[in-house]
Amino acid sequence: MAGPFTLAPLPYEEGALEPTISGKTIGFHYNKHHKTYVETLNKLVKGTRYADMKLEEVVRSTVDRTGDEQKIFNNAAQVWNHDFYWRSLSPKQTLLGGKLEQAIKRDFGGVETMLEKMTEAGEEQFGSGWAWLVSKDGKLSIEKTANAMNPMALGINCLLAVDVWEHAYYLDYQNERPKYLEAVLKVLNWDFAGENLDQEGHAVRAAAE
Ligand code: MN
Repeated sequence: MAGPFTLAPLPYEEGALEPTISGKTIGFHYNKHHKTYVETLNKLVKGTRYADMKLEEVVRSTVDRTGDEQKIFNNAAQVWNHDFYWRSLSPKQTLLGGKLEQAIKRDFGGVETMLEKMTEAGEEQFGSGWAWLVSKDGKLSIEKTANAMNPMALGINCLLAVDVWEHAYYLDYQNERPKYLEAVLKVLNWDFAGENLDQEGHAVRAAAE
């Protein structure tokens, strides 16, 4: 693939999340949707200052723009979002513990409430978008974003992402987004979320630079 940005390898086999998400869904989602965002981004940044930036910098530098820069944002953000989504899920059971578990208890009362709020965010997102667990000013919360938008673009530390575009679930659940959400929230990667919480100071500094 020519260009500065690359399709990050999937962290597991395409069928590894079955029966929650079929290998067919992941195959299309990764090899068609995610790959196309990378290819389009590489075409759009050719000869621009964005070709020399890190992906995060491209996203943060093009948020809320119009025209060609909006096209760059949409594709760069979707590349970042999908990298983050794949890593937010795990075929192996991970355990919620330590500092993350304490923060979830502190800010939501418990993991069940956190998952309910994430389900609501995913269901209420009208049309394509994302549901997120984020840490903002030292406090965890749930956010939803439309289309390619993500909290990272605004310097907010993301811990977990769930894709609620139809391409994420239509082959397996047809129009039933709540059923997809119920299943996918059982395969979240708590290790990844905990690592993201630990890196918070670093993420905030990078956004301020
Ligand atoms: Mn997607």
